[in-house]
Amino acid sequence: KSHVYKFGDKTTDGNSKMKNLLGGKGANLAEMSAIGIPVPPGFTITTEVCTEYNLVGQDAVIEMIKGEVESAIETIEGIMGAKFGDNENPLLLSVRSGARVSMPGMMDTVLNLGMNDDAVKGIAIKMNNERFAWDSYRRFIQMYGGVVLGMKPHSKEDIDPFEEIIENLKEKRGIDLDTDFTVQDLKDLVFDFKAVVKKRKGFDFPTDPWDQLWGAVMAVFNSWNGDRAVYYRNMHGYPADWGTAVNVQAMVFGNMGDSSGTGVCFTRDAGTGENIFNGEYLINAQGEDVVAGVRTPQQITKIGSQRWAELAKVEEDDRRTNYPSLEELMPSIYEELNGYQEVLERHYRDMQDMEFTIQEGKLWILQTRNGKRTGAAMVKIAMDLYKEKLIDEKEALLRIEPLKLDELLHPIFDPKAIKKSHIIAQGLPASPGAATGQIVFFADEANKFKNTILTRIETSPEDLEGMNVAKGILTARGGMTSHAAVVARGMGKCCVSGAGALKINYKTRTLVVDGKEYHEGDWISINGTTGNIMEGKVATMEPELTGEFAELMKLSEKFSKMKVRTNADSPKDALAARNFGALGIGLTRTEHMFFEVDRIKAMREMILASTVKGRKHALDMLLPMQREDFEGIFEAMAGLPVTVRLLDPPLHEFVPHQLAQQKELAEEMHISLEAVKAKVAELEEFNPMLGHRGCRLGITYPEITEMQTRAIIEAALNLKKRGIVAYPEIMVPLIGTKAEFLSQEKLIRDTAAVVFQERNDSIDFKVGTMIEVPRAALMAESIAESAEFFSFGTNDLTQMTFGYSRDDAGKFLPIYIEKGILKHDPFEVLDQEGVGQLVTLATKNGRKTNTTLKVGICGEHGGEPQSVAFCYKNGLNYVSCSPYRVPIARIASAQAEI
Ligand code: ADP
Ligand code: MG
Ligand code: MG
Repeated sequence: KSHVYKFGDKTTDGNSKMKNLLGGKGANLAEMSAIGIPVPPGFTITTEVCTEYNLVGQDAVIEMIKGEVESAIETIEGIMGAKFGDNENPLLLSVRSGARVSMPGMMDTVLNLGMNDDAVKGIAIKMNNERFAWDSYRRFIQMYGGVVLGMKPHSKEDIDPFEEIIENLKEKRGIDLDTDFTVQDLKDLVFDFKAVVKKRKGFDFPTDPWDQLWGAVMAVFNSWNGDRAVYYRNMHGYPADWGTAVNVQAMVFGNMGDSSGTGVCFTRDAGTGENIFNGEYLINAQGEDVVAGVRTPQQITKIGSQRWAELAKVEEDDRRTNYPSLEELMPSIYEELNGYQEVLERHYRDMQDMEFTIQEGKLWILQTRNGKRTGAAMVKIAMDLYKEKLIDEKEALLRIEPLKLDELLHPIFDPKAIKKSHIIAQGLPASPGAATGQIVFFADEANKFKNTILTRIETSPEDLEGMNVAKGILTARGGMTSHAAVVARGMGKCCVSGAGALKINYKTRTLVVDGKEYHEGDWISINGTTGNIMEGKVATMEPELTGEFAELMKLSEKFSKMKVRTNADSPKDALAARNFGALGIGLTRTEHMFFEVDRIKAMREMILASTVKGRKHALDMLLPMQREDFEGIFEAMAGLPVTVRLLDPPLHEFVPHQLAQQKELAEEMHISLEAVKAKVAELEEFNPMLGHRGCRLGITYPEITEMQTRAIIEAALNLKKRGIVAYPEIMVPLIGTKAEFLSQEKLIRDTAAVVFQERNDSIDFKVGTMIEVPRAALMAESIAESAEFFSFGTNDLTQMTFGYSRDDAGKFLPIYIEKGILKHDPFEVLDQEGVGQLVTLATKNGRKTNTTLKVGICGEHGGEPQSVAFCYKNGLNYVSCSPYRVPIARIASAQAEI
């Protein structure tokens, strides 16, 4: 079995399908060299070796792969005409991590490995460039020290010892840029860097290239279990046993002068999805200089450069001389790059994110991968690729991550509010969206306020967690491919980057723009679509769903046999959901209607009444209100079924618990405060969720069921008169026995019959039940003899099957998940293994006695993609979810069928 896979122009062992073994980066490097893209030769140490390393440790692993690594290096030496460890003609290497999926938490790349006091002289002579040789050497010590020897700062109080030395020297020499260092400066840096390593670590900087190589390889393996990587892995649910591969590759040099450079590019716009080649580069730079935002990067295309100049307020002359695009500066290199981006996009049939380096006029591609993108770009790119016939309609649908659609459903700034807003500065529109929040300057303080805008000079991988927490990200430095921009787009988080006018001072925690000072905690708003930064809070509004998004939804209809309904308690929600394509309501909670001010009084009166007559009196007041509610909802859903659930929550939720309110109630009802208090006490329950609620209310107080039924039927009849069709489905909550259902069903049907007679008219309606008590699931066969439909209330079903109180689970569920006792929060992702069995069983058994039984789900799970797929597999007729989840569920339902 091989542990090492070579790539390069002689032999390539791997290909893009081998991501699990070679990691994403390694697999794609192999694929690119196989299809003739110029990739510096190298090899990949497999992810299996990483897993082995975690079991057996360093020495055994080196023993295991040493021979293969030595032979792979010989191959590189042959291609490059240089020798690893040689003094006259040394081969320098880069060591790169690479898991199956790209992970910002992984080890940083070590470049220029193989450098030492002898090699630097050899390189200087061979390349005829002393400055370059020493620049590469100092970069190597800095990277190796930081990444492999662990000398990177670990907290914001820590300083980077290498950066400190650089800053001191810059100050002493009165220069701003790295590129202004003389050869002697660089030599001094190397000397000081080595000294600080010795001082901090207690040993000399390793000079032997082989020691350097093994050190770097092991550091990559270790980074798989580093804090940042573990956080990222957990966030995405990637298992610990995947491991990371290590890519060792010949160096190519972007820092050899003005005919060299390095950059990053995208085959389409990762923010909007537009089919526009774009990217950024720097002349005479190496590695992550572009991403780290040390200098202002330049644009790849001329059009991109002009757009950038407009935003950055740079005059055309200034732009052409000081910030020319690659297209203008190196037209033939640009042509070549443009050719590769087309080839790669066609080859991978998806938007690519590529890295390249130009060494003295020769172009090398260092990486390609399917680019991270916003939800909007995801939709546009999938639909465009489909129209361009690169992918078919099924593939287009499968390219959608349903949960990412959420971003498109988020509010945008209200254009009216934008007009009135005060723009304080402009940056680059790095990741679209609207964000309003209070300023914080440090990632680990992103949760200091409820809504925060993480405001930084630039961000780095350490900031990941804070970026995730913040509402938006704002940076003073860095371009469209900066760390902040790329990560924000991946998270679908609003980001404005490179707003040069911002003067951020971390020490004083202030932000100064145009002489005006803003402090931590001040409100600002950022528009990731335009790059505008505005003072204070700016109002937002609901987005409109048009264009590609609408087309995508239409496409999904072709495949989704399982329908999507919505949970809605008001005409407004019902209409919103209908606009998103809901085909009916799966759950209307009637209790929400009772919490409005004037209604709660009648409700309380009903609860406090000690006689049937008293209760009826109060219910008579509630009837017209309920009827009006239902009319509104039925009308919003005209022609589509609406499931109405009878009153469900424990009554004590409605009575006042504060003395002042109790007094008020007593006065209003002309009874004593004591009587009110007594009733409240009487309604108190030890276990309200298992107490007097659901159908137990309708059984003890039949008048409630009667009133609600009457309101539903009368509403539908009223609409019928106006030519509007309503299909009410009356749903009995929380039954556990068939007798419970029968008793409520009889009440409902009898009441309906009375109303029909009164009005001398009738409508179609159904009577069914929720399945949320495990016993009901077990008794499904017999219950379905009478019930016309089932709707799984998976919130309660989960609560009762696990025996986890939904209201108390917050105390232990996070710990369960952290310890791996549960994989997901079962209230978020349906527990298919356990609770799912009840769903499967009840559906199957119910249909045994009632072949036309309609079955749906109305818990939170109805909008969660994995759970939607599970419902499809079990032959449910529909899922029902909150309005904003409807598009997500529709795509998930179509995907389940493909
Ligand atoms: P990441 O996973 O963070 O993108 P990479 O392994 O891609 O890390 O390395 C980061 C950068 O280092 C690359 O974009 C490239 O600029 C530089 N780099 C990596 N390998 C080489 C190489 N063989 N020659 C020159 N530069 C390299
Ligand atoms: Mg990196
Ligand atoms: Mg990279």
